[in-house]
Amino acid sequence: MSQARLASCLPLPLEHKVLVNVIEKAKDWALMHGVGMRDKKQFSKDSIQIAPFVLLPSPFPQTEFNKAVELQPVLNELMHKVAHDDEFLEHTLQNALQVDEFTANLYNIWVKVRNEGVAQSLSLGLFRSDYLMQKGGNHIKQVEFNTVASSFGAISTNLPAMSRYILRQLGHGDLIKHMPENRALAGLCAGITEAFDLFGSPDAVVVFVVEEVSYNICDQRFHEFHISETRPEIQILRKTLNELYEETELNDKKQLIIDGKPVAVVYYRSGYEPAQYPSSREWDARLRVERSTAIKCPSIHYQLAGTKKVQQALAGPGVLEKFMGAGAASSRVRDIFTGLYSLDFDESGERAVEMALEDAERFVLKPQREGGGNNLYGSDVRDALIRMRHSRERAAYILMERILPPLVAGYVVRPGAPVPPPITDLVSELGIFGVIIGTKDKIFSNKQVGHMLRTKLADANEGGVAAGLGALDSPYLL
Ligand code: ADP
Ligand code: MG
Ligand code: MG
Repeated sequence: MSQARLASCLPLPLEHKVLVNVIEKAKDWALMHGVGMRDKKQFSKDSIQIAPFVLLPSPFPQTEFNKAVELQPVLNELMHKVAHDDEFLEHTLQNALQVDEFTANLYNIWVKVRNEGVAQSLSLGLFRSDYLMQKGGNHIKQVEFNTVASSFGAISTNLPAMSRYILRQLGHGDLIKHMPENRALAGLCAGITEAFDLFGSPDAVVVFVVEEVSYNICDQRFHEFHISETRPEIQILRKTLNELYEETELNDKKQLIIDGKPVAVVYYRSGYEPAQYPSSREWDARLRVERSTAIKCPSIHYQLAGTKKVQQALAGPGVLEKFMGAGAASSRVRDIFTGLYSLDFDESGERAVEMALEDAERFVLKPQREGGGNNLYGSDVRDALIRMRHSRERAAYILMERILPPLVAGYVVRPGAPVPPPITDLVSELGIFGVIIGTKDKIFSNKQVGHMLRTKLADANEGGVAAGLGALDSPYLL
């Protein structure tokens, strides 16, 4: 697999002494501005350590960056429409639901709530659409669209300032003009406060649903700090799903009540993977929230619209046109899709299996999961497809063409790793944040609010920062 290359923003290598010195400064800058995470090995609420970061901002073509930014409201609206099309969701997910218990549990909550009558017709989406550049032109291709717990908007907001500091320390302040501002944090928080205002009850509270242990604490707390500063009257509580089970109730108006107060907005930073529902209590809590008048971020149909299966279905013939009409917007969206194939038991599913068995390296096999580390690559794709060839389990996966992004040489700074790090080949994934608030028939707000760049070793299949594989970065526009 030969991959194209982009030049780093400064000639490398940097001189040893300069490098060691600037890394020391950069680490302190990071720690003192919350570019950090809790230590997984030695967890303590008294300390944070640096989050892995790339020393120099990674190059990204301006036109492709702009394209992603401009498409975000279009994609927000598309996903909003998909989420409100019950028939499409059912049709798209039905085979996966037979074999994927987690997605089925989410789906069953949606059906139950719909049958009872939806108490809150507004949904809040804090979305992130992710892209890799594809070799042969470096055009962006969508990796996935996240509708739940889209992370790193907050920390990424600080990243351009960190890169600017580093470039100035290296005597290259002139390069700063290539770095776009990032206002993701303010934009995401404005989504939460706008939803709060639409809820229309000044004494209500906002709940962040969090993991039992939050390693990515900086990224979550920044939202709380920002809202506390801009809207001091809004009280924010952090609760696990289990705490929600124990501490909330629905009153006769279907308000979700906690500490005697109604909940206006429930913002999930947990609840996107099976391990976060260790017992029926967490599922009961999720159902209770979904039944309530609280505005959910995301509501359960938004979460279902963010499944890989929906992404694959959207790439099918005529589907974008059904949601968006046949105009320029749908061809702009189609242009960012790469090959996406269903593995259902029908003719096209069989064809996809054949195709993948012939050249497994060309594909990624994806289950209906979030949070990184779930996909299969290379020979694992082949092994899994041989194993599942005659099993219904196959329908819980999609097959996706593997995107081959250009390489950039760079330094990744990691907590506890030797300084200076070696120069390594890296690839970057751009995420664009979007905010949408609306009901089936009326959209109140629909915006692009900022970006993140996450960079990983070129030979790593995945690059989740929280999973320890990727590093935070910021784009240097070419
Ligand atoms: P998740 O919801 O778990 O984040 P993703 O679809 O984003 O799932 O996949 C995780 C990671 O796997 C991505 O960040 C990217 O690094 C890699 N990846 C996913 N799809 C592709 C693809 N089609 N081509 C190349 N890499 C991919
Ligand atoms: Mg995801
Ligand atoms: Mg992802």
